[in-house]
Amino acid sequence: MPPAPPVFRFAPSPNGRLHLGHALSALTNEALASRFGGRLLLRIEDIDLTRCRPEFIAGIETDLEWLGIRFEPGFRQQSRHFDDYAEALMNLRRRGLIYPCFCSRQEIRTAVAACEAETGRAWPTDPDGAPLYPGLCKRLDPDEAARRIAAGEPHVLRLDMAAAIAAAGRSLRYEVFGAEDIGHVVRVEPERWGDLVLARKDVPTSYHLAVIVDDARQGVTHVVRGRDLEVATDVHVLLQNLLELPTPLYHFHRLLLGDDGQKLAKSRASRSLAAFRADGITPAEIRRQLGFA
Ligand code: GLU
Repeated sequence: MPPAPPVFRFAPSPNGRLHLGHALSALTNEALASRFGGRLLLRIEDIDLTRCRPEFIAGIETDLEWLGIRFEPGFRQQSRHFDDYAEALMNLRRRGLIYPCFCSRQEIRTAVAACEAETGRAWPTDPDGAPLYPGLCKRLDPDEAARRIAAGEPHVLRLDMAAAIAAAGRSLRYEVFGAEDIGHVVRVEPERWGDLVLARKDVPTSYHLAVIVDDARQGVTHVVRGRDLEVATDVHVLLQNLLELPTPLYHFHRLLLGDDGQKLAKSRASRSLAAFRADGITPAEIRRQLGFA
């Protein structure tokens, strides 16, 4: 039997219209999938129920079709798979690798400020610039935590990073690939994220957890995404090891910068593909502009 073809995926969040940065990501996926004879899947990352909207899912489909990118029919939609993420959380909880945390952002800020005042040193931050969680709820009596949960107090679930790294028990790595298939191995340092949140107060999962569960469920072998997600991969490789899921190969593409030198983002109202289309710009012109002529 011939080997199974590689599997690629493009995974936008339907919290706004797609812009040129998404087009670059989708076209890079298409180019590499074609280079390696792979399948190309679509995934809708809509765990954020307050910001994601059905009309944006329809917009994603329209824009991708307009660009002429051929995905396999259908898509996996994260909001329909909360049970899968709950199962992964249960696995980690049984092994004592996650704990509930009731802290508000303000409580964390206050605790960090107190530590800084005491030590005279800046408190460490994660790669996104947020202070590492100072561990307040890690020391909570389990009976008290259970009581507060039973009383309906909102809480997140945090990964106990030190315990998780110890449980993974070996040096964690992933391999980067490119068009010429020259792989190099990257050793990950998940500890720089501290005890991060794996299930939010408003949503029973997080980006990190959902993405690795879904990549495994969809049989993804080649992850192609922007360089902004390179640091998050450290967490993903750790979680894949803990949950005994395969680690795909990774490729991080360049990011498009706006005139202000910042990464294009929906929140900065970057010009949407729909707006380009309305102005009569053709998909061929978009492809050319992004270097995919
Ligand atoms: N949903 C993420 C985004 O829109 C991409 C996730 C990924 O490629 O891992 O930025």
